Amino acid sequence: MPVTRRADGTLALGGVSLAEVAADSRAGTPSYVYDLDAIANEARELHAAFEAAPHVVHYAVKANSAPTIIRTLAAEGCGADVVSGAELELAHRCGIDAGRIVYSGVAKSDEELDLALAVGANGIKAIVAESVEELARIAARATAASRVASVSIRINPGVDAEALDTHSYIATGHDDAKFGVAVSRIGDALDVIARSPSLRLVGLNAHVGSQFTTLDPYLAGAKTLFGLAREVRTRFPLAFVDSGGGFGIDYGDGCAVRPADFIRATRVLQREFGLDDLMLGCEPGRALVAAHGVVLSRVIQRKAGAGQRRWTIIDAGMNDLLRPALYQARHRIVPVHMPSGAVNGPWRVVGPVCESSDDFGMHDLPEGEVDLVAILDAGAYGYSMASRYNGRALPAEVFVRDGAIAQVVSRKPLLAWVEERLAETA
Ligand SMILES: *Cc1c(COP(=O)(O)O)cnc(C)c1O
Repeated sequence: MPVTRRADGTLALGGVSLAEVAADSRAGTPSYVYDLDAIANEARELHAAFEAAPHVVHYAVKANSAPTIIRTLAAEGCGADVVSGAELELAHRCGIDAGRIVYSGVAKSDEELDLALAVGANGIKAIVAESVEELARIAARATAASRVASVSIRINPGVDAEALDTHSYIATGHDDAKFGVAVSRIGDALDVIARSPSLRLVGLNAHVGSQFTTLDPYLAGAKTLFGLAREVRTRFPLAFVDSGGGFGIDYGDGCAVRPADFIRATRVLQREFGLDDLMLGCEPGRALVAAHGVVLSRVIQRKAGAGQRRWTIIDAGMNDLLRPALYQARHRIVPVHMPSGAVNGPWRVVGPVCESSDDFGMHDLPEGEVDLVAILDAGAYGYSMASRYNGRALPAEVFVRDGAIAQVVSRKPLLAWVEERLAETA
C-alpha cells in the first residue's frame, strides 16, 4: 500500500499529509493526490526488467492523462500508447517523441488519421490498425497526404474471455471483442499492406485485457503474437513486436506478480521464438500509476436507514471515480485520521450523485466521527474518466514530489458549470 500512516495517526502519500492537502485552499476535497516519485520508480523498475534489450515502454495515456504525469514518464524515457487524436497531440506536446508513440483504437476518424500522419517529421512510430477495413482507410488518408504511414497490426489473439480472470468489460483479446484483427484475417490485412505503397508494416501489436494478476493470459497472447511475427517477417521486415499492457495491481485482494515479472517472462518467450533482434514494446497504463494516486474526500454526513442499514456519505461520487459503478471495482477506503483505540464497524460508503450505482461498497470505518477518507489505488482510470454529471465540478489534482506538494490544479468553483453552460448556449 503506497500510503503510509504517520506516528500521529494521519495518512500520508509521498511524504505529504493528506490532512494538509485537504486543508490547502487550492486543493480541498474531493481531490486526486498523486506521488510522482513513485510513478517514476515504477517506470524505472520496468525499464530495468528489459536489461540491455532494445525496448520501448509505451505509457497508455488513457489511464491518466494529466500532463504532469505524462511529462514525468517522458523524462523516464517512456513512449506513449494513445487511443485518440487528442491524446496523441497531448502526449507529443508533453515531450514524447513522435517516433515513440503508437496509436491504437478500434476506428480512428479521418481527422485523427490526418493528425497522426502529420505529427513529427516522419509521422508517429505506428498507427496500430485494428481491422482490415481500417487499413484501407489509413492507406487512403496517407495517399491523400502524400505520406507513407508506418502501420502495425493489432492482432486479436482469441484468448478465451472466460479464462482471462478479469472483468468482462476489460477483456479485449477474445473472439467477440471489437478489438484487433482476428488471426483468421491477418492474411487479408497483409494483402492490403502489400498492395498499398502508402503503407509500411513496421510491427505487430497485441493487447489482451487489463488487470491480470497472473502471467498466463498475458503470455498466451504473447505466444500467438510471436508465432505470427515469425511468419509475417518472412514477407515483411518487422522492426518491433509489442505485447501490450494489462499488468495488474493489488487492489486489496493481492497481486503476486510485478510488471517486471511480465516483461521477464515475455523476454524468455521472445528468445524462444527467435525474435530477439526485434525491439520489444509494452503498453502499461494502470501498473505505472494506479497505486500511486488516491481520491481524498470529506464525509458530508452519515445516515441511518431501516433496520441495520447505514451509510457514510462522502463528497466524492461516481462522477469523480467511475470504476466501482462501471466495473464493479472495489477500492479500499481508509480514514485519514485514525482515532486511537477506534472501534471499527461496517459502513456502506456512497457518494452524493443521484444513481444507485454511486456506491463504493462496504468498508470498515471508525464508529466515532470521521472527517476525511482516502479512496486508495485511484491513480488509473480515475480522473481520466471523471465527468460533470449532476452539474458537479471536476475534482482538484494535487501532484506530490520530494515530500512536498509540487503542483495543484484547483477544482472549479461550485457554480462554474452553470456559468459555462449558460455562456455556451447564450
Ligand atoms: C488501455 C490500453 C492499454 C493499457 O492497459 P492497462 O491495463 O492500463 O495496462 C494498453 N494498450 C491498449 C491498446 C489499450 O487500449
